Amino acid sequence: MSRSKPTVLVSACLLGQPVRYDGRASGHPGLLQRWQAEGRVVPLCPEVAGGLPTPRPAAEIPGGQGAQVLDGTAQVLTLAADDVSAAFVAGARQALALVRRHAISIAVLKSGSPSCGNRLTYDGTFSGVKVPGEGVTTALLRREGVQVFSELELDAAERALALLDEPLIEPPSPQA
Ligand code: SF4
Repeated sequence: MSRSKPTVLVSACLLGQPVRYDGRASGHPGLLQRWQAEGRVVPLCPEVAGGLPTPRPAAEIPGGQGAQVLDGTAQVLTLAADDVSAAFVAGARQALALVRRHAISIAVLKSGSPSCGNRLTYDGTFSGVKVPGEGVTTALLRREGVQVFSELELDAAERALALLDEPLIEPPSPQA
C-alpha cells in the first residue's frame, strides 16, 4: 500500500517569492527548498490571494489578534486607517480551502505578519511593538486543527512532519 507524502502549506514569501507588502521576499531556508524538491510544499500568500496588490500598504491589527478579525470584533488597518479586513479574511479562507484540498495538517508561515504570524503580531500602533497574538490566516488554520510553525521553528516543523511520515514505513509481512 502506498500514499502520497504529507504536504505542508508555506508562506510564499518564505519560498523566495517577492510578495511582501514592500515587494520583497523573506528568504528561502534550506529546509523549505528541500521540501519543495520533494514535492511537499503548497505555497500561498494569503494577502495576495485575498486580492491585495504587491507592493501594498503595511497593515496591522489593533490588539494583534487575528481571531478577533475572523469574529468581526477587530479590523486589519493600514496606517491611513483603511480597513483591509475583508481581503485578509478572504486570503485566510483560501488557505483553509488549500489545507482541506491537500489534507494538510502542518503549515510554516512567516513570523510577525498580520496574516501569517503564529506567536507575535504588531499591536496596531505602527511603532514596531509586538504583542502575543496570531495573524488572521494562522487563526483560521488553527481552528481547523493545523499546526502552524514559523520560519524560526523549522526544527520543530521538521519533527512534526517526520511523525506524519512514520506510517509510510510498511510493517514486515507476517510469516506464513
Ligand atoms: Fe504573504 Fe504571509 Fe508572506 Fe505576508 S507573511 S507576504 S501574507 S505569505
